[in-house]
Amino acid sequence: MALQERVHWACFQSHCFSSNALLAVTSNCSRTHRNRGQSADSESSTQSGGYDVELFVDTPDYDLICTICQGVLRCPVRAACHHIFCKRCILQWLKRQETCPCCRKAVNQSLIFVMFKLSKSIGRMKIKCKNEIRGCPETFPLAEQYCHSMSCAYELVHCPYPGCRAQLLRRDLDTHARHCEHWRQPCHMGCGAVLSHRTQAQHNCYRQLRQEYAAKQRDHRAIAAALQRKMRRMQSTVAHMKRQIGLICESLEVMDDLREEAEEEVEEAEEVVEETSSGASTSGS
Ligand SMILES: [Zn+2]
Ligand SMILES: [Zn+2]
Ligand SMILES: [Zn+2]
Ligand SMILES: [Zn+2]
Ligand SMILES: [Zn+2]
Repeated sequence: MALQERVHWACFQSHCFSSNALLAVTSNCSRTHRNRGQSADSESSTQSGGYDVELFVDTPDYDLICTICQGVLRCPVRAACHHIFCKRCILQWLKRQETCPCCRKAVNQSLIFVMFKLSKSIGRMKIKCKNEIRGCPETFPLAEQYCHSMSCAYELVHCPYPGCRAQLLRRDLDTHARHCEHWRQPCHMGCGAVLSHRTQAQHNCYRQLRQEYAAKQRDHRAIAAALQRKMRRMQSTVAHMKRQIGLICESLEVMDDLREEAEEEVEEAEEVVEETSSGASTSGS
């Protein structure tokens, strides 16, 4: 496969091990990475030239060493003279002189071949973690280096909370988060409040809610008691009025009886007067 034109280095890098599986894994890894804090190491600065020979568990074969950078071939390409170099190394070399650094034969940039199979073989070589010096004991295939660095407990990362400038090992993030001034988390009870360590100690929306509920219950009980008292007063007023009405009815009945008696007496008196007057007239005649 001829390399007809210059390929963007970063694009070429991502295709270097040309494995879709690897790309899928790294995209997953970047999500974990963002959750656990940004890596504090600059990846791009380490990507020039080949891989550091010291990184490999077993000393790499001499054939896999780039003559230009003395590192293990990174994205190897073969010139027409069959010499193999890192792609970036030979492209930079050719900017200055268009001859092979090994055999001095002329090198045509358009006749450089990418060695995908060799690249894949190098990708399978076991390496030590770059954080070995910080204590990481892991070894893994070179192709998994990026993925490992996204989860490596010894990776130097930035604290993920906005405003915090702390850089620390990923494994120390949890310990740091317990004291970080910039730590923020929404209330786990779901009240919507965003809490810092300081406000979290005082925040107890559940207790507050219970206190409010108890205060409301007290208010409701007081209202109910007042209503009962009012009802009792109204009941006694109604009973009093009933008694008054009963008395009025009784007195009305008594007055009726008296009136009837008085009428009867008047009638009797009239009858007596009539009888008397009729008796007087007969004795007079
Ligand atoms: Zn090189
Ligand atoms: Zn050569
Ligand atoms: Zn590691
Ligand atoms: Zn912090
Ligand atoms: Zn809350």
